[in-house]
Amino acid sequence: MVHVRIKREDCTACSTCWETCPEVFEENRDDSFSQIREEFRSGGGISEGEVPESLKGCVEEAAALCPVQIISLTNE
Ligand code: SF4
Repeated sequence: MVHVRIKREDCTACSTCWETCPEVFEENRDDSFSQIREEFRSGGGISEGEVPESLKGCVEEAAALCPVQIISLTNE
């Protein structure tokens, strides 16, 4: 599994991550910032999650393209 974290307080709601990797990221309806899709959330919040290795490439691409570099991945 891969641990993903979004530092939401610095998100600019640019939409790049959920357009690049909609399997994992989505727009929060209330504040428009990025969040982890419910099925992958961990830690009781919306900013962290555990995704399978099969989605690692998609998350890596989103992280690389995020203009403010606030998506981080950790292998577990
Ligand atoms: S790519 Fe980065 S700044 Fe843009 S919506 Fe996603 S987390 Fe926010």
